[in-house]
Formats: sequence, structure tokens, C-alpha cells
Amino acid sequence: MNVLVINCGSSSLKFQLIDAVSEEVLAKGICERIGIDGRLTYQPEGGEKEKSDKPMPTHTEAIQFVIEALMNPETGVVKDLHEIGAVGHRVVHGGEKFASSVVITEEVKQAVTECNELAPLHNPANLIGIEACENLMPGTPMVAVFDTAFHQTMPEKAYMYGLPYEYYEKYKVRRYGFHGTSHSYVSKKAAEIMGKPYDQLKTIVCHLGNGSSVTAVLNGESVDTSMGLTPLEGLVMGTRSGDVDPAILDFLAQKEGFDIPEIMDILNKKSGVFGLSGELSSDFRDLTDAMNAGDKKAKIAMDVFSYRVAKYIGSYVAAMNGVDDIVFTAGIGENDDYVRAQVCSYLDYLGVIFDKELNKGLRGRQVELSLPGSKVRVFVIPTNEELAIARETLALVK
Ligand code: ADP
Repeated sequence: MNVLVINCGSSSLKFQLIDAVSEEVLAKGICERIGIDGRLTYQPEGGEKEKSDKPMPTHTEAIQFVIEALMNPETGVVKDLHEIGAVGHRVVHGGEKFASSVVITEEVKQAVTECNELAPLHNPANLIGIEACENLMPGTPMVAVFDTAFHQTMPEKAYMYGLPYEYYEKYKVRRYGFHGTSHSYVSKKAAEIMGKPYDQLKTIVCHLGNGSSVTAVLNGESVDTSMGLTPLEGLVMGTRSGDVDPAILDFLAQKEGFDIPEIMDILNKKSGVFGLSGELSSDFRDLTDAMNAGDKKAKIAMDVFSYRVAKYIGSYVAAMNGVDDIVFTAGIGENDDYVRAQVCSYLDYLGVIFDKELNKGLRGRQVELSLPGSKVRVFVIPTNEELAIARETLALVK
């Protein structure tokens, strides 16, 4: 069965059509500038990438163009709509309502809407994508796969904040965690590579991308993760601050006369390695070039980033009373050898023996970075959230 995987943002929509049985990607692409003008990038498997400007006032037009591209007589990969057996939607926030993926019904949409205030930038866009697909593909089953679902196994001691309990009762203020689809996918893959049962391992996954998070996976379940109520908590990220002393908010408000939205904007969009590097870049490729050219702030940014990852690893070793394997994934984890080497330089106490030579220049490949005799195994495993969504979708609609 072919599954159309949709990852809908406020002005963009990424898609992949995957044969969920053979797990082959048939075509993929992205619609950008939705609501502004509109641009479609489409690439069939083995074919050339095509870019075209298309009017996309709403997500409905964007999905209409995606369907037309998929059915194009020359470059398309299906003949008619019935060859798309199901649609899998990435949904960012499922709150406490969703501990696993679900087939989308009116009740599910209502429940997702109720989570909107927990993810005001993401969930409304995800719902628009769902409704646009429903309009254009009536009768095709749709599945929602939540970024938060994998972390619903976290125990109370990990998800409660040290705040008055009433805010949890009234507003569900607690830690949720994100990137669950990726953490779940790569931790399973690591178990497969090691040939060990998934439910008997202590794994720490470092998903290091534009947004970054670390997760402790104990016996196949997430027991702690670095993101919280929102994706702002935890690691230092591309433009997000991660953990800071909350008193800084009031301090800056007084010094600079900021209001809360201005402070949130600084914490979300102007901080992280971008802010640390003096607004040089949030992209680690630029930071690496600058660091190699002697830029001090770029080096500080990369070192603060790596040190924070190492500290989270240490705290999750404590949370699980041990660790069997550590996995690096996502844009930075898969590609940045400096960050991996820095992080692993803090792991001697765990008995990690790290292959520095193999690590050098290693990009985007599945590899074991620990050497024989290492007490903890270290892997780079490319994540594949789309494939994970296609698998979940197939399992639910089969
Ligand atoms: P997201 O899905 O959150 O947008 P990704 O997982 O795609 O993020 O990661 C994007 C980030 O990965 C980029 O901002 C960049 O910092 C980093 N990255 C990508 N390629 C490389 C590379 N070759 N070397 C170092 N960093 C890279």
C-alpha cells in the first residue's frame, strides 16, 4: 500500500509517497510559501528535481498540486488517487490525550484542536493539512502520528515541573517532549543493529537538528526527554536557548524594557548557537567554517552546544542507572564530526572507546563509532521520520 506522508507547517508542506510494504520512497517534495505565492518542488524516485511556481493561497491548493504532480502522466508515480491507500500526518502535539498514533476521526480532530494552545505554531497547521487532504481525498483513511506520543510513558517524576500542582491540574502544564517519532525509530534501529531485544536496553538518543533533544529510552520506553511543555526546554539549539535560569526573563524585562512576547521571541528565535555566535548563523556548517577560520564566538557556540548534550547524557545515565548505547541522529548528529567528538570526549567515565579516525568527516551514514572493548556502544543512525510515519499508518489501516 502506498502511503502519502504529510508534514504540514504554517507556510510549508513536506510530502513523501512511500510504498509502505517495500518501504521504497516513490516521490517526495515540498510546497513552500503557501499563503504568500507558492512554490512546488517535486522529485520522483530516480528522477530529476522539478521546481515550479504555483498559486497556493491555502494548503488545499498546495495538496491539489502535490496530487497532480504524483499523477502527472510523464513524471508522476501513480495513475489515479486510489493508488494512494492512506495518508499519514505528522501532528506535533497530542497532549496527554494521545499515547500512540490514531486513525483520524471527527473526535480525534476535536482532541487535536484542544491541544492547539500547547503548540500554537504547529498544531493548527497540522489540522489544516488534515482537512485539506480530507477534502481532496474523501474516503482515504488518514492517520495522525504525534511527536509527543512516544514520551507519554514518562513517569510523573520526570514530567512534573517544580511548580504549584494546580497548574498541572488546571492547564496540564507538564513536560511532554518532542521528536518522539525519531527517538523511537532510531532507538529501535540501534537494538536491531546490536541484535538485542528492544525491551531490554538502556539507550540514549541525541536527536541533534535545528531543534534538538535527548531522550532516555529504558526497555523500549521513553522515561525522560530534554524538551518540555514546548520545544524550548533542554539543549541549546539553532536559535532556541534551551534551559535558562527563569529569573533571566524578569532581569531582561527590567533592563531592556521587554514585554513577554519580546522575551519569548528572543528565547525562541535569537538565542541558541545563533545568538551565542553573535548572530553569525544557526547552521553548524557555517559555524564550523567560522570556527576553523578562528572565529571565537563560533567556537564558543559549538562548545556550549556539545557540553550541554554531554550533561544531558550524564543525567540520563543517572535516570536509567546505566546505559548500553548512545545514538547520534538528525542533521547535526549525522553530519557534524566536531560535535560528536566533543560530546564523546566527556564520556570516558562510562568506558566509551570512541573511534576518532572513523568519526572524522563522517556524514549521513549508519556507523558504529565505538571500538571493540567499549563498555557503551555509540552509533550514528540517520533518522527517517517519514518512514516511521508510513509504518505507523500502514499498521493502523491494514
Ligand atoms: P530540522 O529537521 O529540525 O530542520 P535537521 O535535522 O534537518 O533539522 O538539521 C538541520 C541542521 O543540521 C542544520 O541547521 C545544520 O546545522 C546541520 N547540518 C546539516 N548538514 C550538516 C553538515 N554537513 N555538517 C554539519 N551540520 C550540518
